Amino acid sequence: MRLLIMGPPGAGKGTQAKFIAERAGIPAISTGDIFRANVSQGTPLGVEAKRYMDAGEYVPDTVTNDMVRNRIAEPDAAAGFLLDGYPRTLAQVEELDSMLAGSGHDLDAVVVLTADPDELVARLLQRATIEGRADDTEEVIRRRQEVYLAETEPLIAVYTERNLVRAVDGMGEVDEVTERILGALELTAQG
Ligand code: AMP
Repeated sequence: MRLLIMGPPGAGKGTQAKFIAERAGIPAISTGDIFRANVSQGTPLGVEAKRYMDAGEYVPDTVTNDMVRNRIAEPDAAAGFLLDGYPRTLAQVEELDSMLAGSGHDLDAVVVLTADPDELVARLLQRATIEGRADDTEEVIRRRQEVYLAETEPLIAVYTERNLVRAVDGMGEVDEVTERILGALELTAQG
């Protein structure tokens, strides 16, 4: 299966991506996690990405696209993958289309987590105290939400037009949300 998971910052994409990918037997590939790993290792990619991440801005498409292209070409992604946090811009959608066309595959579904915007800031501030992410200050959180609305939300219409969107209520307990997603993807507990 080739899946995407989308939703506003704080909607729980990363948490759900790991559960869903495990159930589907595919790797969860999070661009945010790859950037953070590079930042903590001090690689040139990490140094470049950190400037943007700390400000709540998107890392430039060229950098991000190359990184994803390399990652999904790895052997563990040959039978499928769940992309968490990519694509985030229309240019990234086009780039992903060309990567998939190059390998002769299609996307199977795009999970869109919906959430109450007021709750999201609270969730992110709570996560900041637990994980200590540098991009979880209130100012940066608000900027990330603005950038999401301007750059990424329009992608939902693109994938809706392609009949790929499975909208799932992202509010509630983590395992409830997981069950909703598995149901929407027809990956039930027995399956
Ligand atoms: P995330 O963990 O998905 O919230 O990503 C954290 C940060 O990494 C984002 O706020 C961006 O700065 C950067 N990032 C992650 N994925 C992308 C992407 N697809 N395009 C551009 N920047 C990204």
